[in-house]
Amino acid sequence: MSIRENILYFDEKLRGVTCRLVAVSKTHSVEKIQEAYDAGHRLFGENKVQELVEKRELLPHDIAWHLIGHLQKNKVKYIASFVDTIQSVDSLKLLVEINKRAEQVSRTFPINCMLQISIADEETKYGMSYEEAVALVQSEEYRNMKYIRLVGVMGIATNTDDAGKLRQEFRYLRECYQQLKETYFFANEDFAEISMGMTSDWELAIEEGSTMVRVGSGIFGNRNYNK
Ligand SMILES: *Cc1c(COP(=O)(O)O)cnc(C)c1O
Repeated sequence: MSIRENILYFDEKLRGVTCRLVAVSKTHSVEKIQEAYDAGHRLFGENKVQELVEKRELLPHDIAWHLIGHLQKNKVKYIASFVDTIQSVDSLKLLVEINKRAEQVSRTFPINCMLQISIADEETKYGMSYEEAVALVQSEEYRNMKYIRLVGVMGIATNTDDAGKLRQEFRYLRECYQQLKETYFFANEDFAEISMGMTSDWELAIEEGSTMVRVGSGIFGNRNYNK
């Protein structure tokens, strides 16, 4: 299927479900992104700062860009002026830096941020424990931030086709979300997102409460990292 057809396929699948699609365009060309854009899509995800900055320059500026990969503190400054959402916030220090950089640039709205919680058993995956996330939202520093809007949680499940295991991990992330929501964000409508599910498991993730699936190869085809 073409990129256009894939976008329309997801539009159809997500109609009536409170779940949005992040089209993950990492490693793919601006031409391919433009194709998805021309099919009406406006929400894209990249995992590397430099790639994101380069592509953003060449594409329409009404795209909402989500950073979904690990973010180093020293690179926040390159995206602070335009990024819509940083899904991969994995420490208070990083959030402090994002807030600082957002203050320095003239943005018309705060930077949306999600707390990345580690749900997989692979140790290489970034993310906070639930306890670290709690400590972050309880901190004085977070409470004083004016340029950050925490909009939810994000998780990357184990790379497996064991549906039972995936379900467990998705469920855990949803529980983390619900706990945070009830305890710290009950009166805050912005905190509403559970970002989970990718090409191989997005349907399962939606069944477990995902509000945002991040699909790359299922839209743009396989990635070639050797180009
Ligand atoms: C690459 C990536 C995706 C998309 O992966 P696919 O399997 O191609 O759908 C989703 N989330 C994150 C964090 C990624 O880095």
